[in-house]
Formats: sequence, structure tokens, C-alpha cells
Amino acid sequence: MPVEIELYELLGVAVDATEDEIKKAYRKKAKEHHPDKNINDPDAGQKFQEMAAAYEILSDAESREMYDMHGMDGLTGKGSAGHGMDPADLFAHLFGGGGGGPMFGFDYGPGMGGGRRRAKGEDSVIPYDVTLEDLYNGKSVKMNMEKEVVCGLCKGSGARGNAKPKACGTCDGKGWTYVQTQISPARIGASRSQCRDCKGVGEKLKEKDRCKKCKGEKIVKEKTRQEIFIEKGMADRQRIVLAGAGDQEPGIPAGDVIFVLKCSPHDSFERSGDDLLTHITITLSEALLGFSRILINHLDGRGIKVSSPPGKIIKPDDSIILRGEGMPIYKRPDQRGDLYVIIGVDMPDEQWLKSVDQKALALLLPPKKLDVEPLPEVVDEADYESSDIVDVRARSFPASQNFFDHGFPSQFGEGEDAWVDDEDEDDEEPECRPQ
Ligand SMILES: [Zn+2]
Ligand SMILES: [Zn+2]
Repeated sequence: MPVEIELYELLGVAVDATEDEIKKAYRKKAKEHHPDKNINDPDAGQKFQEMAAAYEILSDAESREMYDMHGMDGLTGKGSAGHGMDPADLFAHLFGGGGGGPMFGFDYGPGMGGGRRRAKGEDSVIPYDVTLEDLYNGKSVKMNMEKEVVCGLCKGSGARGNAKPKACGTCDGKGWTYVQTQISPARIGASRSQCRDCKGVGEKLKEKDRCKKCKGEKIVKEKTRQEIFIEKGMADRQRIVLAGAGDQEPGIPAGDVIFVLKCSPHDSFERSGDDLLTHITITLSEALLGFSRILINHLDGRGIKVSSPPGKIIKPDDSIILRGEGMPIYKRPDQRGDLYVIIGVDMPDEQWLKSVDQKALALLLPPKKLDVEPLPEVVDEADYESSDIVDVRARSFPASQNFFDHGFPSQFGEGEDAWVDDEDEDDEEPECRPQ
């Protein structure tokens, strides 16, 4: 005795019916319940569909055996849960595209599940390009958009005057038509597909009964003006949702308009959360003797003046932190993150060298290095030849990545730890050995 008998009952056969009996019973029932012959029965389509599915399962020895042993759960791959379900639910399962075990893996197409309605209109997602300046300063943007609104003339009925739609002749008002689907070379399955004539609605207006303005479409295009506020401190990829500003459809709430901010890379600043990073260069004399000047033009046009501490020598790739000069914090724009500044040192050029008294300069500068100690027994001379590290990398020099990365500045985004505050790195070993 099978664990469930609903499918047998649907076809009106005994649980031990032969293949032939099942086929005959299905043919008879299908004729009887065909929606074409049951125009006044709103459930005819559903019944017919259930019958087709029942036959589909019971006419195949393998799936019939599975059904006998495990019921519908055995076929939908849902295990043992949900025994004693109402057959209608079982079919909703099968055809709603939810469970779909291996046997029912084919696509039933749109409009399945008895014309399920969406709870809300379609959202419009619009990418919107912004600059880092926009996100720093905030911005209000007005834009013209076109959206679909419910037709004002027919109030969304699509009809002219009081004309009523008639049941669609193509699908007999069901909204779908019954089509044969090839499951495997040997088997043809029954499946529904949305009616093309009425787009799954089941009703249609005659040409002459359609609303003049929307031509029976129920909606018309309308130009609107949207204003969005890009707030200070907003993030790249942040979404600005204008609830209910999207396309309208009769009978359901309008969708949302969703702007997705897309920030283009900035020439001078990189952002990491609320913090910013920038690179500047100072001259050799500034590195040795200090500076007090406008170091940075900020994203809001302000100049940022910084003075180095007296007596401080600045080494190439030193970094400093300018507290409170980072990005405004979203929703707390009076507070800001920090600005990290990596300082490069521009070496003077050869023209400059020619113009100075080099002997005098040598006396001013720290002494040159001596040969290494202890002195090696064998010393060879090698030629000095400039090289381009980028070129070397491109030729996939077989050294480890560390070989090249050693001493290179860390990339922004490795976290705060990668950043050394100015105060932390005091006197390191001097470059030149004292004599
Ligand atoms: Zn209309
Ligand atoms: Zn139709």
C-alpha cells in the first residue's frame, strides 16, 4: 500500500492499476476536465494541470515507485518532512518552482503558480557616478527621469469608459497555456507557459474598448524630476533609496528608485573608511631643515598648512597623520577621520649640483661611507649601470617578491598598523657611520 494515494484518486484508478489502466483513465479524465470544455469552472485549469502532473508521475515506473514509497516528498527531494499535505499544496510545490527534484528540474517558464502577484512594483536601480569631492562636501543633485505611472485617464483599468475586459480567448482566461515540454528524448512533460496574448492576466480588452491615453496598457510614461542628496561621508557603493518613487503598476505599491553611488578614483587622495591618504613631496633642504607651508590643497578647497618640528630630519617615505583632516563621518559630518600623508623627498637635480661649490658642500654634509669592515681579501670592480626596477619586474625576475618589496612603501588599505605615526620612530641608526 502506497504511503499516499492522492495521485491515484485524482485519476480515479486503484493503487494497483496497470500502466494501461492509468493511461486510459488519464485520457478520459483529461477530456472531461479540459478547460476548453469547462469555461464556467474557474478551477478547471488547475484541475487539468493536476491531472497531467499525476499522470506524469504514475505513468513512469521509476517515479511511481518513488511516489508509492515516499509520497510527493520522495519526488520533490524534500525528505520526509511535510507528510499529510493537501494535494493542492503538493502541486503548488511542484509547479511553483520551489522544490523541483531531479525529475522536475525543467523550467516551467513565467506565470507559474497560478499567476502569483508581486507585492510591490519593480525597483529601478541606477548607478550614479560621484567624485571624492562630492562625498567629502555633500551635494544635491536634480535629475530628469522617466517613469511609469498609472494612467490618469482610465485610473489604471486600461479601459475606455466603463468597458469591461473579456476573458482571453487564447488561454480561456487562465493566463497560461498548456504546452508540451520534452523532458528527455523518450518523455514529454506537461508544462504551462504564460499566455502571450493577455500576458498572463487572463483578460483582454477589445481594441475599441481600450483607453485612448494608455492604449489599454494601464500605465503611461511620465517625466519626473528627482532630487537626491549625497550626504557628507557617504561611501562608495552606498545606496540612496527613494521609496515609492519608482515605476507604478495598478493595484500594488510603486517600486523604489535606488541610486548606487560609484566613486571614481581621485588623483591625489585615497580613501579608507573615514581616513584619507595622500602623497606629497618636499625638497632636500625641507627634509633637512624643516618646513612651514601649505602642504595640501584639500577636497573642499582649503589649504592645509603644516610646520615640521624644529630639528627634525624627514626621511623619504616618512608618514605623518593630520588628525581630523580625513573624511566627514556619515551622519556626524562635524566629525572627521584622519589624513595620512606620505612624504617623498625630491633630490636636487644635476643642474643644481653643477651650480654649487661641491667641495664646500662635502664639508657641510655628513661624511661619505668607508669600505666595509673587515675588508674582503678579494675585491672585483663592477660597472655602474642604471636599471629600471619596473622593467626588471616585467621580465619576471626569479627573485622572491620580498626582494623587490623590501623598503617599498606599504600600500594604503593594509590597516592602521601599516602606518607609523611620526612620533613613534625617533632616532634610528644614522645612515653614515661616524669616523
Ligand atoms: Zn488609460
Ligand atoms: Zn490569455
